[in-house]
Amino acid sequence: MIARVQPLTRTRAVRGPFDYRLGAEHGEVGIGSVLRVPFGGRATLGVVVALAERSELAPDRLAEPQSVLPAELPPDLVALAGWMAGEYCSTPARALRVVLSAGAADVGRPRRALVAELTEGGRDALAGGVRLTAKQRAALTHLLLHGASGASQLGLDTARRLQARGLVTLEQRIRPRRPPRHAVGSAPASAPQLTEEQRRALESVLAALCAEEQPASRDFLLHGVTGSGKTEVYLGAVAATLARGRSAIVLVPEIALTPQSVERFRARLGEVVAVLHSGLRAGERYDEWLRMRAGEARVCVGARSAVFAPLSDLGLIVIDEEHEGSYKHEGDPRYDARSVAEHRARQHGAVLLAGSATPRAESVSSKRRLALTKRIDGRALPAVEVLDMRGLHHPLHPETRVALADLRRAEGKAIALVNRRGWSNFLSCKSCGHVWLCPNCEVALVLHRTGSLLACHHCGHRETVPGRCPACASISVARHGAGTERVEHELIEALGSPAFPIFRLDADSTSLSERARTLQRFQAAPGGVLVGTQMVAKGHDFQGVSLGIVLDADQTLRFPDFRAEERTFALVTQLAGRTGRGRAGGRVLVQTLSPAARAIAFAAQHDADGFLADELVRREALRYPPYATLIRVVCAAREADAARSVASALRGLISPPDTIVLGPAPLFRLRARARSQLVIKASDRSAAIRAVG
Ligand code: ADP
Ligand code: ZN
Ligand code: ZN
Repeated sequence: MIARVQPLTRTRAVRGPFDYRLGAEHGEVGIGSVLRVPFGGRATLGVVVALAERSELAPDRLAEPQSVLPAELPPDLVALAGWMAGEYCSTPARALRVVLSAGAADVGRPRRALVAELTEGGRDALAGGVRLTAKQRAALTHLLLHGASGASQLGLDTARRLQARGLVTLEQRIRPRRPPRHAVGSAPASAPQLTEEQRRALESVLAALCAEEQPASRDFLLHGVTGSGKTEVYLGAVAATLARGRSAIVLVPEIALTPQSVERFRARLGEVVAVLHSGLRAGERYDEWLRMRAGEARVCVGARSAVFAPLSDLGLIVIDEEHEGSYKHEGDPRYDARSVAEHRARQHGAVLLAGSATPRAESVSSKRRLALTKRIDGRALPAVEVLDMRGLHHPLHPETRVALADLRRAEGKAIALVNRRGWSNFLSCKSCGHVWLCPNCEVALVLHRTGSLLACHHCGHRETVPGRCPACASISVARHGAGTERVEHELIEALGSPAFPIFRLDADSTSLSERARTLQRFQAAPGGVLVGTQMVAKGHDFQGVSLGIVLDADQTLRFPDFRAEERTFALVTQLAGRTGRGRAGGRVLVQTLSPAARAIAFAAQHDADGFLADELVRREALRYPPYATLIRVVCAAREADAARSVASALRGLISPPDTIVLGPAPLFRLRARARSQLVIKASDRSAAIRAVG
């Protein structure tokens, strides 16, 4: 037999698959098997994408694989990788790498450990009549209560003595490494009585799940206001899927910061739930992956890469907070987990259920919409007030200061959102106007007070804060704009003393786990202000937050992207969603230089439908998604001329019908590389992809 293998190289020029000869010693090899193969003078991992009787190559020119790895991809994921390679103008090898690395299959074999189990004799011994030391009694009791356990947990010496007396058995066993669990607070393990709206939404999904023949659309959009109980609908749909003997994937953004979302699924559904995300150790990921591959786990809850969960018989894919940017992968292939989920759902005839309070215009126009219009507790959404910052120089509006003073008096909780980390957005010389730029990236350096340095947020370049201007030697330097550090400082000032706790959360608070701890401390605190970048507005279910503040709504609004308005609308709405969940009710203050901006005005009215209708009209007029496909091609080179001429040459090559090519347009230099960009707007997606690829 011949195995056609895609070696998992990153080199774009390599276009497999390549043939290898299989011998009897390789055992069962099929599509999806992972092999270690000789390739270009080295050993590399490769995935079998096809089997054949014979090869075009002479038998003596065929190499044999060196070994077969225990992990193997299910064939449908091999097919999915093939589709991704085309859809995202990548290579099959790169796509397979990404699919496989969801489980990090090259981390080795499952861990073995010495496991102790109680014998009949041990059981009797506990009942009495046998002399036991306190340690031995404790160990036996533990085994009685918890079942087989690691010997190291009981104390190795104690375990061995008990074994010698025939009271326990000791055995080397595979012990799956399980992701750590988080406390869930008071989340109920059993389903509450669903509201009328929840019940109706769930029924529509169940009808599609149970339909024998495939109706026209099995893609749903659960458009539910914040706090309307979308998760209960997901849970109900997953439980029904399991009951029909099928499996389910639940995609959630940013697990490390919202562990509660995962825990709700684990608490309700138990051991059939596997968890996949980048916060896990490699061994934990691998073992979770194996549990799914073996069919022990039938539900995968995880971030973006969980869309590649090796589950058979998929019946349902849920995408929670479907508007979140983190579903898009920045590496190659630049896949969008939402589109991959759609494709995978088609492959399996599965139902797709995407949910959000602020869905994307694309989802509204392409999916069957289910609405949850009311918050669970019947409480109103918080009032949103727009504060005009024109003519003001302080980062806090007078109204904001009053609100903070009230909050302090009432010992309440607030969340303040700033879109920039650091202290000031940029520095300029007051005499000559010189602006401090990154030497690699042509973007302004951001002043950070912690460590007092200037930092580039693109490439990580750092330098010390200047004493004088390098252009004119003046010592008067102006600082512009307010980042999280500055706002933290202003809040401490405004609240009178540091005794009222301020919690800062941004990518500068070193590790993910440190950020998670900050969120927990804010959750537990009776009063205080959580200040940070967008991550403070994400899906948290905090109790008792009565005030939300958006400090600079213009930051996102001015971003040069056709999604800028959608993002701004989502940001304000999601922050409002974290606010007023308790009895105290709540209000949200939006500080802005453009109080009349559409996105802000609609958010202030809680009018998602109005915003979306308006947004769709605008998108159609400008030929943006969902009315066209956008493909961005970035050419990077050391010299600006080279980048531009490559882009121009490319432009000449692209001419599918009904296509507009914009550019070449210069982008700011990034990591010492000049860049030039083309944007292709096309009505026919596949024609555009073919033209580019
Ligand atoms: P969303 O995701 O729509 O913002 P959640 O799913 O987080 O809302 O639900 C908000 C809160 O309401 C949660 O604490 C949840 O446990 C609770 N909840 C959801 N459905 C019900 C219900 N039918 N009865 C009582 N409480 C519910
Ligand atoms: Zn100067
Ligand atoms: Zn830089």
